Amino acid sequence: MKSNEALFQRAQKVIPGGVNSPVRAFRAVGGTPRFIARAEGAYMYDAEGQRYIDYIGSWGPMILGHGHPAVLEAVQKAALDGFSFGAPTEREVELAEEILKLVPSMEQVRMVSSGTEAAMSALRLARGATGRNKFIKFEGCYHGHADALLVKAGSGLATFGNPTSAGVPDEVVKHTVVLEYNNLAQLEEAFSLHGREMACVMVEPICGNMNFVRASVPFMTRLRELCTQHGSLLVFDEVMTGFRVALGGAQSLFAQQIPGFAPDVSVFGKVIGGGMPLAAFGGKRAVMEQLAPLGGVYQAGTLSGNPVATACGLATLREIQKPDYFDALSVRTQSLVSGLVGAAQDAGVPLVGDSEGGMFGFFFADKLPQNQAAVMATDKERFNRFFHGMLDHGVYLAPALYEAGFVSSAHSAADIAATVNASKKSFAALS
Ligand SMILES: *Cc1c(COP(=O)(O)O)cnc(C)c1O
Repeated sequence: MKSNEALFQRAQKVIPGGVNSPVRAFRAVGGTPRFIARAEGAYMYDAEGQRYIDYIGSWGPMILGHGHPAVLEAVQKAALDGFSFGAPTEREVELAEEILKLVPSMEQVRMVSSGTEAAMSALRLARGATGRNKFIKFEGCYHGHADALLVKAGSGLATFGNPTSAGVPDEVVKHTVVLEYNNLAQLEEAFSLHGREMACVMVEPICGNMNFVRASVPFMTRLRELCTQHGSLLVFDEVMTGFRVALGGAQSLFAQQIPGFAPDVSVFGKVIGGGMPLAAFGGKRAVMEQLAPLGGVYQAGTLSGNPVATACGLATLREIQKPDYFDALSVRTQSLVSGLVGAAQDAGVPLVGDSEGGMFGFFFADKLPQNQAAVMATDKERFNRFFHGMLDHGVYLAPALYEAGFVSSAHSAADIAATVNASKKSFAALS
């Protein structure tokens, strides 16, 4: 049998850092990443045959758990008909119809292969449609790794940001305004300074890239008003929250609390492909028709709307529409979070948690953080020790404190109970 350590050594010779996406390398928590051999339902098995209850779910897509029979069947059938044609298919139309039915703020949708591509294209579309260059993003929100979106906050209030990555010229991010999440004063100031030049505001409505932080209702209400007032598009990056926190995404939750609420453009990924490379962005017809071949905003992809990926996404979206699906998933996720918080309390360890649908977060802190600075001020050393404690007990949590967790419908009440039990031992080791 191959060991994780031996595979990691071998991987590091031929792949930078041994991984094809940085967080997989366990750099934040230390130790050796697990090399996964296979997965089934709520479980992943590593190269050493060790079983883990999986709370990453490929960082969100696996909402049905791994290898759901209906999805497997759809994918196998689609693969027999051909992998890729570079020509339109009926299935893309079916998937588009399905998505639009679930997300009423959109009248048209364009499919791509990754969340990065979808967010990047949505930004280009917003700029093309408004004829403006500047846009706002929030510190701690991740919108994929397109150059203009890889920006951290500048030093002053409502100033332009600095690149977070080498290889991104200052010129490329000079139109990116980075503000603190949930900070109304900064939002007001940015719009009063630059409102007329602002193409869009891109936001994770529940931010899963700083663990789990909700945009407050007053913040979202004002954000919508300011965008409308200044002719800027409100772009919801629902790559993580879409079809995950609720069937209609986070926008459906804000629409319940803010009368008439809807974003102008929405970006999807992760669950939409059910584990295959598929993502999408969409909005009102007038905006979407700015895209090539109808309009002047260019956007394309060799594998876009891939027939096997669309089959996987379609089968996934059909499963999550079954009666009571989200209610049951929410209850299960809530039981995990309350179990963890209770176990921590019993061990005298300060812990807070939150969840929506099948997405959750927890923090070693006294209260839920509202922005990235507060997330980063939570107890990292405790998180890292807890992470390894849980891993040793066969529970696979996200290997960094600024990542969200995911529960699938394959997680049973017994899986949650086993996880909470493991947490009791891990919390005890912390206090
Ligand atoms: C994962 C994620 C992305 C990027 O998607 P990829 O498929 O990894 O390129 C963009 N936005 C959000 C909110 C995400 O969570």
